[in-house]
Amino acid sequence: MSGTEQNAGGKKPGARCPMCARPSDEAYRPFCSKRCANIDLSRWLSGGYVIPGNPIDTDGEGSELPGRRDNDDDQTS
Ligand SMILES: [Zn+2]
Repeated sequence: MSGTEQNAGGKKPGARCPMCARPSDEAYRPFCSKRCANIDLSRWLSGGYVIPGNPIDTDGEGSELPGRRDNDDDQTS
C-alpha cells in the first residue's frame, strides 16, 4: 500500500471544465458551472454538432455491404 494517493476528499481532481478549464463542479459535471453547461448546450442547439465535410457516400462505388452473397451455387458448369 502506497500512501501517495491524492484523493483525500472524494472529489476527483483533474476533472476540468472543457469550456474554461476550471475545476468542474459535481452539480454541473463536466462543467464548472451552469453557465458553461449552457454554453455547450447552446452550441449543440445552434447546430454546432453538424460535422462539416463530405456527406456519406451512398453511391456504392465498390463498397458492397457484407453478407450480401448469394447462397445458390447451382452454377457448377
Ligand atoms: Zn467552465
